[in-house]
Amino acid sequence: MTSRVAIIGAGPCGTAQLRAFQSASKAGAEIPEMVCFEKQEDLGGLWNYTWRTGVDEFGEPVHGSMYRYLWSNGPKECLEFADYSFDEHFGRPIASYPPRAVLFDYIKGRVEKADVRKFIRFRTVVRELSYSDETGKFTLTAHNLPEDHTYSEEFDNVVVSTGHFSTPNVPYFEGFDSFLGRVLHAHDFRDATEFSGKDVLIIGTSYSAEDIGSQCYKYGAKSITCSHRTRPMGFKWPDNWAEVPLLTKVDGKTAHFKDGTTKDVDAIILCTGYQHHFPFLPDELRLKTANRLWPLGLYKGVVWVNNPKLMYLGMQDQYYTFNMFDAQAWLARDVIMGRITLPSKEEMLKDNQAWRDREEALEDAYQEIDYQGDYTKELIAMTDYPDFDTDAVNKTFYEWEHHKEENIMGFRDNAYRSIMTGSMSPVHHTRWMEAMDDSLESYLQTETEAKK
Ligand code: FAD
Ligand code: NAP
Repeated sequence: MTSRVAIIGAGPCGTAQLRAFQSASKAGAEIPEMVCFEKQEDLGGLWNYTWRTGVDEFGEPVHGSMYRYLWSNGPKECLEFADYSFDEHFGRPIASYPPRAVLFDYIKGRVEKADVRKFIRFRTVVRELSYSDETGKFTLTAHNLPEDHTYSEEFDNVVVSTGHFSTPNVPYFEGFDSFLGRVLHAHDFRDATEFSGKDVLIIGTSYSAEDIGSQCYKYGAKSITCSHRTRPMGFKWPDNWAEVPLLTKVDGKTAHFKDGTTKDVDAIILCTGYQHHFPFLPDELRLKTANRLWPLGLYKGVVWVNNPKLMYLGMQDQYYTFNMFDAQAWLARDVIMGRITLPSKEEMLKDNQAWRDREEALEDAYQEIDYQGDYTKELIAMTDYPDFDTDAVNKTFYEWEHHKEENIMGFRDNAYRSIMTGSMSPVHHTRWMEAMDDSLESYLQTETEAKK
């Protein structure tokens, strides 16, 4: 009997897994039967935008954390698939920091080309997973939402690709209960125009804080105050920005900070990150980690050491994204298909610890980029994923970091060369600060069309 693999989630990771198996099948290999479970109505994961917040029409927690006007926060040249270039998808080089809709289109393009959409059961949420030592199989319980029907099936392998930027981490600060304004988490932020003319307080200093603050600035907020727990972001911010120590309490509309200063604000946006949340997994199968470059328990960052029939994709904090997810999916495929023989549990744990030790010694963003580049390089060398120059990707990431240091509101106006095709990207027709339309149609206009 053919073995069966369940893939949970059809975001960039889940669809990478489908494509990995399809590429082996195309090359003549016999592959397992694949079933991909996706709770949303379309693929693409976070890139599939929803206006909804809270719960969806079936009462399920909304997965989406992306918002209107979101543009890629890193150069597209760093995430390009090695087997499906931007040039191939769009028919010509396009600019380097595409808005969400453009990247969504790109992700879908590879899925259509590989013809793997047919393996996805949409609107089906995975509720429970268990493993039997007796049968050596997993039992997966799924819920078909539109039909309101729950059923269970057996699988030989399971790939968890449900993402980890969806369940918000929501700290409490004194006075929130009586704050005379709005408090929300980045997960529920949808449209910066809501904050036009307002004094906005942001808690956190990572990518959500940086980008949501920038969005609010771009769409007309009166002032942005960024409160940090560890250290300020330190970019050269516009005049109506301030970086302040951690919030201690709010009193009416007044926010108080650790250094004794205060600021009256209209809204507080908690850009305080997300939790790895797998409500469908029992303790013995469940990854428990903070958002970091090397979660423990996963051999090569993918294989669940305590039960190597279970895989996790994309669980790391991310500089590298789509092409790293691909390399992981190719590795998961080869472990599942027996092309890669796993070492003993002891050796897997030792390898894991060595990566963790190296992670703990990293001192800055540049070293973190190299680290994740080395990791991706190692995976690529283990599989037949099309080889690409991770050192060149790392260099493009360094350039991106420099461009941000030079001009945080203008870094998206730069252009880079594709590592996959060698073609140079054009500079976008409109500077990011002036580009209010984030549609695919607008982004793909040529300079002449945009000037009409
Ligand atoms: P996701 O994209 O989260 O997809 C997971 C899928 O699993 C979803 O479709 C979900 O519906 C499904 N699912 C979850 N639970 C279940 C269940 N129980 N049953 C069935 N289906 C389930 N990366 C970049 O490279 N560039 C960017 O500019 C960028 N911007 C970002 C902006 C924001 C606001 C956030 C939060 C992240 C951003 N990222 C960006 C990082 C992002 O994590 C990756 O690009 C990518 O989406 C991760 O893919 P994934 O498949 O692991 O997870
Ligand atoms: P994150 O990188 O995990 O950062 C979490 C932040 O929250 C950190 O600054 C952390 O501060 C802070 N924090 C956590 N708990 C706190 C507390 N109790 N009090 C104060 N501060 C607290 O999460 P993220 O910024 O949401 O980014 C998640 C992902 O989304 C990233 O992959 C990013 O690339 C992506 N993203 C992309 C875009 C885009 O422009 N395309 C926009 C937004 C997000 P410490 O440093 O003190 O721990």
